[in-house]
Amino acid sequence: MRSHLLNDATAESYRRSVTEGVERVANKLATTRGPFTGVTPAELAPVIDAVDLDRPLGDASAALDELEDVYLRDAVYFHHPRYLGHLNCPVVIPAVLGEAILSAVNSSLDTWDQSAGGTLIERKLIDWTAGRIGLGPLADGVFTSGGTQSNLQALLLAREEAGTRDLSKLRIFSSECSHFSVQKSATLLGLGADAVVSVPVDRNKRMQSVVLAAELETCRAEGLVPMAIVATAGTTDFGSIDPLPEIAALAEEYGAWMHVDAAYGCGLLASRKRRHLLDGIERADSVTVDYHKSFFQPVSSSAVLVRDGATLRHATYHADYLNPRRTVAEAIPNQVDKSLQTTRRFDALKLWMTLRVMGADGIGELFDEVCDLAREGFALLAADPRYDVVVEPQLSTLVYRYIPENVTSPAEIDRANLYARKALFASGEAVVAGTKVDGRQYLKFTLLNPETTTADIAAVLDLIAGHAEQYLGENLVHA
Ligand SMILES: *Cc1c(COP(=O)(O)O)cnc(C)c1O
Repeated sequence: MRSHLLNDATAESYRRSVTEGVERVANKLATTRGPFTGVTPAELAPVIDAVDLDRPLGDASAALDELEDVYLRDAVYFHHPRYLGHLNCPVVIPAVLGEAILSAVNSSLDTWDQSAGGTLIERKLIDWTAGRIGLGPLADGVFTSGGTQSNLQALLLAREEAGTRDLSKLRIFSSECSHFSVQKSATLLGLGADAVVSVPVDRNKRMQSVVLAAELETCRAEGLVPMAIVATAGTTDFGSIDPLPEIAALAEEYGAWMHVDAAYGCGLLASRKRRHLLDGIERADSVTVDYHKSFFQPVSSSAVLVRDGATLRHATYHADYLNPRRTVAEAIPNQVDKSLQTTRRFDALKLWMTLRVMGADGIGELFDEVCDLAREGFALLAADPRYDVVVEPQLSTLVYRYIPENVTSPAEIDRANLYARKALFASGEAVVAGTKVDGRQYLKFTLLNPETTTADIAAVLDLIAGHAEQYLGENLVHA
């Protein structure tokens, strides 16, 4: 069994094994015809059930053969130009290279004595990101597992900085389109059920700062504490960016922590054409960025940044075995002092390789391409009488619904759209997402693949219309 350990004696086997895995994936990428096969859980579950985990195959080739059946054949492929579903990006090769290296070396970024250079590389990327945001000389931060964790940590710091131990008094303000991790964080942080005040959005799905101001005033009048305002820079559904300068001014006025959730919109930090859309983000107390969304990085790659690095002390605990107090005096850089995690992947290496090979402009260009594509897609949808499109995109999502001729029942239109989404998924020809707008069923394209063309969008819209019409036709027959 020692032959499976990665070390000096097995370097050749490592090379062969990983190369074989890379070959399989490369073949897959070259031959996939659609983003999905349409396999159902009922079809796939028995295949996986049939695997006896207590009877190993012994060698990597056999396990890879089996993997074809249990995973690779039916995976959902984000690199395919007709994957238009969730906020998943195709990944860039330098980052995948980084991924292969980081798991083989297996550094753990909690302490210097488990990572050495890895810690300094992560710190440099944090500084780079904070610099792009404009957070100033005291800024700091740490890589996290994702936007959910980044938001949780940011709100933890905000809670600790709020200066009251009476958690029932704390309020968080975020738009009705903010990510559900805001609510989840509030619960995890022990705040009351009413802690999150949902601020309505305008017709462009951006937080109404006038209403925010009124809510803050009410909060103050009731003797409650405005703990944090969460501005979303790129809402998950619409890509809309809340009015950051107005929110920053209100945060200052009311002494609230300003958190910017830029999990999606962070790609703008690398854009030369659209960076201005984030103007005001430099006034934030904390920022969430998901490189695994708009920097074309493999999952996971995310960070939380703060204006004042000293606030990260709220996540600092010392363990004699790991990061004893003396290491602080000795100025040993232990990232665990800033993190909610202990053992932690060297995800930063992926972004490092990306910036060293492509540069930030390279990433920004890719993100600009998908934002341009969204504008073209919007024009297509707006001109298409079969569709109603919700809002002109600031980033790269399009929310729309099929509206049949001669059908007036809103519930029937909802069902036709939902059916079309499911039928499309089952066909494997394309993957689109769905969401609700004012209680009605809508469909969504999240465009993160620069290889997707307007022709792809047009073709998928035809497919959706076909499925919806088929549903309505069948339903008329049954009626
Ligand atoms: C995706 C997303 C999150 C959550 O990020 P994960 O990486 O999925 O945990 C938070 N906020 C916004 C606005 C998002 O789009």
